[in-house]
Amino acid sequence: MRITRLLRELVGLKETRVVGVNFSAEGLVVDVKPTWRRPRCSGCGRRCPGYDQQRGRTWRHLDLAGMLLHLRYDTRRVECRRCGILVELVPWAEIGSWFTRPFEDHVGYLAQRCDQTTVSKQMRIAWATVGDIVQRVVARRQDGDPLDGLTIIGVDELSYRRHHEYVTVVVDHGGGKVVWAHEGKNADTLLAFFDELGLERCKKLEAVTIDMSASYIKAVTQASPEAQIIFDRFHVQRLAHDALDEVRRAEVNQAETDAERRGLKGTRWALHKNPWNLTGLEHDKLSALPRANRRLYRGYLLKEALAGVLDRRQVNVAKRKLDEWISWALRSRLGPFRRVARTVRDHADGILAYVRSGLSNGRTEGLNGKIRTLTRRAYGFHSASGLIGLIKLCCSGIRLEPVFHWPGGAH
Ligand SMILES: [Zn+2]
Repeated sequence: MRITRLLRELVGLKETRVVGVNFSAEGLVVDVKPTWRRPRCSGCGRRCPGYDQQRGRTWRHLDLAGMLLHLRYDTRRVECRRCGILVELVPWAEIGSWFTRPFEDHVGYLAQRCDQTTVSKQMRIAWATVGDIVQRVVARRQDGDPLDGLTIIGVDELSYRRHHEYVTVVVDHGGGKVVWAHEGKNADTLLAFFDELGLERCKKLEAVTIDMSASYIKAVTQASPEAQIIFDRFHVQRLAHDALDEVRRAEVNQAETDAERRGLKGTRWALHKNPWNLTGLEHDKLSALPRANRRLYRGYLLKEALAGVLDRRQVNVAKRKLDEWISWALRSRLGPFRRVARTVRDHADGILAYVRSGLSNGRTEGLNGKIRTLTRRAYGFHSASGLIGLIKLCCSGIRLEPVFHWPGGAH
């Protein structure tokens, strides 16, 4: 068997001829050419006259028996009547990529399942490079329009890079999938989603779960006025958590003795847990609280009571309980809780809509947890688009298999 034939079988790429082979210090370098003679435009795919020849370029392909394998080819530039002067199309890689498609697909498969170190080490590429590859894999593999058929969606913001940057994520509650993600968290960010959705599909939206941020409320009311706004219960509860924290800090600062201060400091976790998750020690601390600090205890009861209201299943009962909660919080003489009470009063409709529908971003909790794990993994990417790519790769239903091939087959 001739060595070029052997290599063509091993490399296994469609419309690719092998014309030579050499070793470099790094591994094997296989000289290749497209099987077509006349160059094709990378903008539109048409055959075009060549313009000039560029110097050799290399592309990383899947390793061969554990050895690095690169393809090498002198690309031409073409003069396309439609697109102008562009580099020619090559059959084995996307424009602008230094990797073949099978290599990229394999990276995508691993990135869906493995941590950062495993992917980088196994594929011998930097993690930041994985971010770029993932974006191309997503563009290639996303089939159909993910924005079709949406009726109930959830919108959430993610903070990224130590809270300096934000990404807005739209989830389809029906399919439990991410359907859209974009950098930013203001009204314009979400309006860009509704723009893409278009008028017809906006009208089909029945409900949107969001947090109580004014910008998301504005965007939803403007773009899809008929959709019911549902405030995410976990965001509502977080308001009470934050208020309780504020009360606790103020009490720590005003404590008169060191022992009192230490006692208060130790309550932080106990105050935030659900009562049935408390450890023995935390339980003791809480039991002492009514006597130790009545203001903090009142805050704790308010926090627990709000969760209780949201657990109700009958809307009329929940409405009455919520009204009672609001007046209790307003009379509590705890500044942070009075502020929460006013917010809850202004948003009562959307909060009760949760009780009516049971819909919440938390319902897709598994998905949310996954997205948050990805956010930590995406830390080494150079931009939010890397994170967005990873979220789409892992949470939008793209199925990838490990890349293998057999004699006579081709990638
Ligand atoms: Zn063209």
